[in-house]
Amino acid sequence: MKNEYDVLIIGGGPGGALAAKTCAEKGLSVCIIEKRPAIGVPVRCAEGIGEDLIGEFFDELNPKWISEKIKGAKLISPDGSSFYLSPEMAGNEVGYVLDRKFFDRDLIWLAVESGAECYVKARAVDAIMEDGVVKGAVIEYFGEKKEIRAKVVIAADGVESKFSRYCGVDTTVPLRELETCAQYLMTDIDIEPGITVFYVGREVSPEGYIWIFPKGDRTANVGIGISGTQSKDSSRAKDYLDKYVKKNFPDGKIIELIVGGVSVCKPLECTVADNLIIVGDAARLSDPITGGGIYNAMYTGRLAGEVASECIRSNDCSKEKLMKYDTTWRSSRMGKALERNYQIKEIFVKLSDAQLNSVLNSVNNLVMKEFSTLTLIKEIIKTNPRLVKELSGLR
Ligand code: FAD
Repeated sequence: MKNEYDVLIIGGGPGGALAAKTCAEKGLSVCIIEKRPAIGVPVRCAEGIGEDLIGEFFDELNPKWISEKIKGAKLISPDGSSFYLSPEMAGNEVGYVLDRKFFDRDLIWLAVESGAECYVKARAVDAIMEDGVVKGAVIEYFGEKKEIRAKVVIAADGVESKFSRYCGVDTTVPLRELETCAQYLMTDIDIEPGITVFYVGREVSPEGYIWIFPKGDRTANVGIGISGTQSKDSSRAKDYLDKYVKKNFPDGKIIELIVGGVSVCKPLECTVADNLIIVGDAARLSDPITGGGIYNAMYTGRLAGEVASECIRSNDCSKEKLMKYDTTWRSSRMGKALERNYQIKEIFVKLSDAQLNSVLNSVNNLVMKEFSTLTLIKEIIKTNPRLVKELSGLR
């Protein structure tokens, strides 16, 4: 580990890996530090990603990254009605359940193959600040503190991100917009292969949802997210999940438990500062409706790498120059989807179970030529005129 690099990346998830690979391919010296002893574990994710989204990064997918190909999705309303999205309709919901143990590790391999250095069990414990400007990070590496300086630091330290705060950026997530999640990897359960299932409703999962993401023969990620404000003694995410599992998969075997948080708030007001770029979950870029953030982290990681490289080449890594990163992702398809889905989420979390039943049943028999979250919402609006007023600001 050197004392100085062109780019220092905090966090070895998908955001950090793509940023590192991009910078290294452009010939910059790059260091990634990851606080955990191994990349990709423990997996804190349901591992779903849309086919077209992952296709933006790879012409071919390594088969070992994929646990299951997804061909459709089912939404279960509070009254038990089931809303099936066929392959033709499911659009973004068609894709893969990844095996992130392999996927995340291989993303880092690709970065390292391109010339980046990666250090595990290396935790950023503070920022090096001079005249209010980021100059690098203080690292704890096998019990020793070390300073690493860089022209640009990329904060890719996920939902628990502290680095941006060390740099003076407010990254607070309101408790009601922090989904607390619990997930079992279960086996020996009756599931429909290739179909993801979502349960909504206050009774099963207040201000969140339960998911079943298949991962091969009679095996699936079975998880739940509930709003932080709904999490109380004996009604935590795991309690709701246990109730669901007891009822639906009484003979299933639990082989893994993970817990984690997902932010469903607006993105940070600004995702750059002098010499600093913030990507992925650290920038609060997971989708406010689905909680999905793998693609968003990869997209912003790659973009951060491109902008950082340009700025380093032109010898100007000021906030003003790095703003190209912020404005580009905000005006991208991803940025617009985040803005729209935040507004939709704000309305949907307020619906009672009875209202949810009526909204979902109204679209149950609709045949849509093309499915996307936006198409579904448009159909819901058509059949529920009272929602039109509230949703009228949506594009
Ligand atoms: P992360 O993948 O979180 O990587 C950040 C890394 O930074 C971590 O490895 C962490 O150890 C490291 N780090 C943190 N602090 C430091 C430090 N101080 N020093 C060094 N390293 C540090 N998204 C989807 O797209 N599909 C899903 O199905 C899905 N399901 C989910 C289910 C659950 C239960 C949860 C919790 C999340 C889910 N997500 C899902 C979200 C997805 O996991 C994240 O959006 C994605 O991993 C974000 O990538 P990232 O690179 O920004 O952050």
